[in-house]
Amino acid sequence: MNYIVFDLEWNQCPDGKEAGDPALPFEIIEIGAVKLDGSLQETGRFHRIIRPAVYPTLNSHTREIVQMDEKKLKSGIPFPDAAREFLSFCGGDAMFCTWGPADLTELQRNLKYYGMLSLIRGPLHYYDVQKLFAIQYETMKSRKSLEYAADFLHFDRSLAFHQALSDAVYTARVFQTIDPMIRHAYDSIDVYQNPKTKKEEIHAVYNGYSKFISREFDSKEEAIADREVTSTYCCLCGRRARKKLRWFSAGSKNYYCIAMCPDHGYLKGKIRMKHTDEGKFYVIKTIKVSSSTEADEIRIKKDTIRKKRKQKRR
Ligand SMILES: [Zn+2]
Repeated sequence: MNYIVFDLEWNQCPDGKEAGDPALPFEIIEIGAVKLDGSLQETGRFHRIIRPAVYPTLNSHTREIVQMDEKKLKSGIPFPDAAREFLSFCGGDAMFCTWGPADLTELQRNLKYYGMLSLIRGPLHYYDVQKLFAIQYETMKSRKSLEYAADFLHFDRSLAFHQALSDAVYTARVFQTIDPMIRHAYDSIDVYQNPKTKKEEIHAVYNGYSKFISREFDSKEEAIADREVTSTYCCLCGRRARKKLRWFSAGSKNYYCIAMCPDHGYLKGKIRMKHTDEGKFYVIKTIKVSSSTEADEIRIKKDTIRKKRKQKRR
């Protein structure tokens, strides 16, 4: 298997978000990628500049970041050609690696805009190198810039940052330093192409937590009433864990619960309600090993929300 470490640069509407095309808020203008083989040795590089078709003028913010101007963009090729060449460079047996989750979303959104999304089958398992860097060198939740990581690892910084190919090269170099155990334990799932049917639903187990990604529902209410959505299985032994505190909503997107496994103690459940570009709903549920302290915190959270709601009603 090959690893395709890639990075994109994109432009947005120069007259602000509201004036832009909602189907393509970010237009890709550059693709850079490094191919690594199964033993993480570099075997190829890919670089294309893309001639924009939706926003030919650079947004002032984009202009500051990317080292390009309109003249250089005009020398580029149309996105559909660049995308086909990129996917052909990737080959059939490849796993994507990126710095953070945004590049995969924008790649797929641009493909969809041109009616080419079927060229990549999702949901996609990939490596979020920013997350892997956090787990190996910092804490699970920390997220640092690529420049920070390059400094941290004492890389030679002779290549410019925010240029698609050089960012892909730096990301590949960080990826090469990740312990294979960490890499294998913490792959990521991109759900821009979320599961549509019960059969496509995703059940993934990681070190200390599990993740469930549901199919689509017409409404939030329908989603949160689904038995699979609300079930709580222990993420260590897979057995059904009894709820100590039933699911409750905190804000419009998040739900929490506490369950108890007889062998592994407290489990914390979290549901994030997501909506698709087409107005459907699906959930991402995580079940994590927890503690009595954390369980108490969740109880306090629930009480606080209940009190606030009561006050509002008065
Ligand atoms: Zn258990």
